[in-house]
Amino acid sequence: MGTPRRILVTGGAGFIGSAVVHHLVDEVGADVLVIDKLTYAGNLASLGGLDGRPGYRFVQADICDAPRMATLFTAFDPDAVMHLAAESHVDRSIDGPMAFIETNVVGTCTLLQAALAHWRALPTERAAAFRFHHVSTDEVYGALGEDGQFTETTPYDPRSPYSASKAASDHLVSAFGHTYGLPVIISNCSNNYGPRQFPEKLIPLMIIKGLAGEPLPVYGEGRNVRDWLYVEDHARALALILARGRVGETYNVGGAAERRNIDVVRTLCAVLDDLAPRPSGRHADLIAFVRDRPGHDYRYAIDFSKLERELGWRPQESFESGIARTVQWYLDNRAWWEPLVRTHDAAARRGLAGVG
Ligand code: NAD
Repeated sequence: MGTPRRILVTGGAGFIGSAVVHHLVDEVGADVLVIDKLTYAGNLASLGGLDGRPGYRFVQADICDAPRMATLFTAFDPDAVMHLAAESHVDRSIDGPMAFIETNVVGTCTLLQAALAHWRALPTERAAAFRFHHVSTDEVYGALGEDGQFTETTPYDPRSPYSASKAASDHLVSAFGHTYGLPVIISNCSNNYGPRQFPEKLIPLMIIKGLAGEPLPVYGEGRNVRDWLYVEDHARALALILARGRVGETYNVGGAAERRNIDVVRTLCAVLDDLAPRPSGRHADLIAFVRDRPGHDYRYAIDFSKLERELGWRPQESFESGIARTVQWYLDNRAWWEPLVRTHDAAARRGLAGVG
């Protein structure tokens, strides 16, 4: 199957969703309908430049709103769904899990029901080509010790309310495939970074605090290990999986860039020293260790060899060059993040560090 022509993207005003929408419109030439509730994490400025482009439409809507979803499916008549809408921040899920159940579990099920009704009404040929692609996280697999990697067959063992809600949504998607025959695909990815990431997540938080000369809060001793993928590499992987992935399969996506949190922060500090030197001292002098997150998973690492073998995908951006590009983007786009930092001061600048 080739790339679907009409793609309904949920969560397209978010960090990864906006990268996906830019990729689909600019590189793939698809018709895209973005559905996004515009929560604190959604930002229309992230879709800047697409307004008025043929093939791009945006609708503000909640995926939990079943009648609205049914109407939008009928009106847009998609060939595929890429589902990225979610509550996505682990720390917020610890403070308030219910919003995660509402959007990630109830919302996903609501969207699945709308997609199923739409798919059942399609003519045979279009129904065979239809795809529901669910974008998920490697956090559903739990935590690793010093060794090993998550594969697509690693048993689920989510540890945070966020990852538990994503695990539930993965199971629902898979169940709609098995039970009703809906042509579903799931991808599970490691931590993303890059332009347009909300300033509560580790990398943008450190950049913004570093630029302000504020302390850089690192959980515990910063020893937790994550794998990092540049968001545009993820967008490319998702488009490829949608176009050529096998129905009913799961694909892991990773960056081949395992780093301890403290090393991520040190790399950022070195880039900041180059691109935006402090009047006195080095950015690394700002590092401050803070009390660890409850239940902080030690290590995630992901084996993405299936995606590489079957679809020929590999990350193109190295961690070091991706970080340099990201810092440069935040330097060049203060107008994107300064209003967010002001509006969400309390939450975004509470000193939380360490995503996923
Ligand atoms: P994000 O928080 O930046 O964006 C989420 C988007 O979903 C926002 O635009 C928000 O407004 C929208 N949204 C939230 N609730 C909604 C609802 N009820 N109805 C409609 N829209 C709603 O998240 P992200 O980092 O871009 O992540 C996107 C997806 O990728 C998520 O499903 C996440 O679990 C997954 N993922 C993220 C990462 C990562 O490192 N960021 C890694 C792997 C997987």
